[in-house]
Amino acid sequence: MLYLGRLLEVGPAAAVFDGPQHPYTEALLSSVPTLDGHAGRTRIRLSGDLPSAASPPSGCVFHTRCPRKLGAICEQQDPPFANAGDGGAHRIRCHIPVDELRALQAASREQTHGAPDDAPTGSAKNADGDSSR
Ligand code: SF4
Repeated sequence: MLYLGRLLEVGPAAAVFDGPQHPYTEALLSSVPTLDGHAGRTRIRLSGDLPSAASPPSGCVFHTRCPRKLGAICEQQDPPFANAGDGGAHRIRCHIPVDELRALQAASREQTHGAPDDAPTGSAKNADGDSSR
């Protein structure tokens, strides 16, 4: 996955799409609609504006919008690629160790299990909360 022209996660398509490890990929794929209404997914909404690719942020290019940002290390140091599985074919750039990212993702899923933020409610409502049928 590319962000501001920088590769943040690479690997076999199935590994990346079925088990994204990088916080950017995780957020990006959480917004993709599924036939089952995002079952099992937690929608991650990024805050902040998209920085200019002509003048990307220092350190990790995703640090200005990353919901898992650690602090100064993310602002100052570009993370190296780390092995995320598939014999090294799946790799991510993040200062958080892969095992820790997996634990954070599992905790997020557990926290919202059974209550996805955009799950169908059985009635169609518009932005004002009125039924539209
Ligand atoms: S290095 Fe820091 S800012 Fe970049 S993705 Fe990882 S936690 Fe987020």
